[in-house]
Amino acid sequence: MPSRPPIPRCIDCDYRLEGLVENRCPECGRPFDPMNADTFTIERRPSRGWLIATGFVWCYPLLWNLLCLFTWLVAWMHLGHPPQAWVDDPNSISSLVDVLVFISVLAIGFVPVALMCGFAANLWLGRVLRLPVGRQILMHVLFIIVWFAQLAIVRMDPTGTTMWLMD
Ligand SMILES: [Zn+2]
Repeated sequence: MPSRPPIPRCIDCDYRLEGLVENRCPECGRPFDPMNADTFTIERRPSRGWLIATGFVWCYPLLWNLLCLFTWLVAWMHLGHPPQAWVDDPNSISSLVDVLVFISVLAIGFVPVALMCGFAANLWLGRVLRLPVGRQILMHVLFIIVWFAQLAIVRMDPTGTTMWLMD
C-alpha cells in the first residue's frame, strides 16, 4: 500500500518539523539534523487522551459491570440487605439508586457503540503506530477475545446484580 512520505517530528514534543528556516523545533527548541534520522522521529505517538479512550472501549463491558455492582451495593446500603431479582424493584429504593439504575441501563445501549468505537480505535492506533497489517489484524482479534472474556464474566453474575437490574 503506497503512503505519502513521512513527515519528521520533534522527538520531545512531536511538532511537525517541516518548512523551517533553522534546524530547531519552534515548539520546544530542540535542535535536529535533517540528515541524521536519530535526531528526529517519523512516528506519531498517540496522545494520552486517545490511549485512555482506547483503553476505555477495550474494557467497556467490565466497566459497565462495575457500574452495575456499584449500583447494587448502594441499593444494598439503602435496603439493609442484598437486593434480589424479582423481589426488590430497582426503581423503588431511593432517588440515588434510581439515577444509578437509569445510568446503568442506559450504558447497556452503548455496548454496540463501544464495540464499534473499539474497532475504530484499533484502526486509528494501527495507523498512528504504522503497524504492519498482520499486527493490526492481531490487535482486532485480541480485542474480540478481551471483549468475549469480559462478557463471560458479566454473564456469570455471581451476585445476581445484572439479573436484579434487568428483571
Ligand atoms: Zn519540539
